[in-house]
Amino acid sequence: MQKETNVKILKKYAAQLQKGYPLILKDALANPGLLKNEGEILNLLDEQGRFLGKGYYGKQNKGYGWIISKKENEGIDQQFFTRKLKAAADERKPFYESADTASFRMFNGEGDGIGGLTIDYYDGFYLISWYSLGIYTFKKQIIQALKETVSFKGIYQKKRFDFKGQYIEEDDFVEGERGEFPLIVKENGANFAVYLNDGAMVGVFLDQREVRKTIRDRYSKGKTVLNMFSYTGAFAVFAALGGAVKTTSVDVANRSKSKTIEQFSVNGIDFEAQDIIVEDVFHYFKYAAKKKMKFDLVILDPPSFAKTKKHTFSAVKDYKELLKESIEITEKNGVIVASTNSSALSMDKFKKFIDAAFKEIGCKYKLEEEFSLPGDFKTSPDFKEGSYLKVVFVRVIS
Ligand code: SAH
Repeated sequence: MQKETNVKILKKYAAQLQKGYPLILKDALANPGLLKNEGEILNLLDEQGRFLGKGYYGKQNKGYGWIISKKENEGIDQQFFTRKLKAAADERKPFYESADTASFRMFNGEGDGIGGLTIDYYDGFYLISWYSLGIYTFKKQIIQALKETVSFKGIYQKKRFDFKGQYIEEDDFVEGERGEFPLIVKENGANFAVYLNDGAMVGVFLDQREVRKTIRDRYSKGKTVLNMFSYTGAFAVFAALGGAVKTTSVDVANRSKSKTIEQFSVNGIDFEAQDIIVEDVFHYFKYAAKKKMKFDLVILDPPSFAKTKKHTFSAVKDYKELLKESIEITEKNGVIVASTNSSALSMDKFKKFIDAAFKEIGCKYKLEEEFSLPGDFKTSPDFKEGSYLKVVFVRVIS
C-alpha cells in the first residue's frame, strides 16, 4: 500500500468536498505547507477527522490536486488506474466502432474520475496530457493501464505543468511506433492533418466536433462564411465541405496560413478559391465594415484570453464588442456562431452578452441552437467548471 498523508480540510470547504467536488483548492487546506511531494496520496479529513476523500497532490493553475476516490479503503494502485481507463474506454465504444470518426477524447480528467489527466485518440495513436507533475508521477501505472485496456500504434504525451500550466517543449514520443506526421485522421468523414510531436497544439480541437458537423450539414450550403480566430481553419473546411460558396478565415498567427492550406488540401478543396488571411480580427472587422462586406455565416471562436501587439482580448470583457462588430457584417437572416471556452462565462452570462450586443445595435435575433461539450468530453456533475464549452447559433433577424 502506498504511503498516504492525512490532510485537514477547513470547515468551510468540507461539505462541498463531501458532496463530490473533486478539486482540492489551496484555500481548503488547513496546512498547505504540509504537502511536500507531487504525487503524494492524500487522505482528506474534516476538522473532526472524518474521511472526505482520497486524492493526489499535484499543483496546477486550478488547485493543489484532485480527489480520485471516495472510498476510504480503495488503494490507488495499478488496478485502480486500469479500472478507470477501462471504464472510460467502454463508454467510448461507439467512437471506437465508428467508421467515419477516428479522433476523440478517450479519457477526460475528473469527468472520468481522475482530474489533471486527459487522453485523446488519433487513429491508433494516443496522446496523454499531464496537467501536473503530481499526476505525471503515475506515468508508469497509467501507461500500463492503457496497455491493459487497448491496443495502440504509439503513445505521445504533452507535459502541461510548467509554470502557469504551460506546455514543456520536448520530444513528445513515449513508446510504441512513431507516427508519420501529418497523421490524417477522420472526423465525420472529413480529414484532419494532425501533428502529435510538434508543440502544444496538434492542429484540431476535438471538442468542436458536433459544431463543425452542424455547420457543414445545415448552415453552409450556398453561403458565404467568415471564420474568425480560425487557427487551422477547421470550421472553414467543414463549411466548404457543406457547400459554402466561399470561406474567409482570419487568424493573427503566421502559422495559421500554411496550416489552413494543408487542412483544405487534405480534404480535396481548392484552397485558392478560399480566403486565408493573417491579420488581427479587429482590423479585419474594420476593413470589412468599411468595404460594406456582409457574410451569411460568421463564426467566432476566440481564446478566453489573448494578447497581440495592439490588443488584449478577454472573453469576459470583450465578447460583447466582438458580437457587435460581427452583427454589423452579417447579412439579414444570416447566422453568427458564437463560441467560448472561458470557464468564467456561464451559458446564462454568455447569452446575456449576446442579448446586450443585439440590443445595443438595435437588431432582433433568434437563438437557433446551442452546444456544450460532446459526450467523449465527459464532465462531472459535481464540477460545473469542467463543462467549459458554450456555443450558440444566433440568427440575425432585422
Ligand atoms: N477556431 C479554431 C480555434 C481557435 S484557437 C478552430 O476551430 O480550430 C484561437 C486562435 O485565435 C489562435 O489560433 C490565435 O492565433 C487566434 N487569435 C488570438 N487573438 C487573435 C486576434 N486578435 N486576431 C486574430 N486571431 C487571433
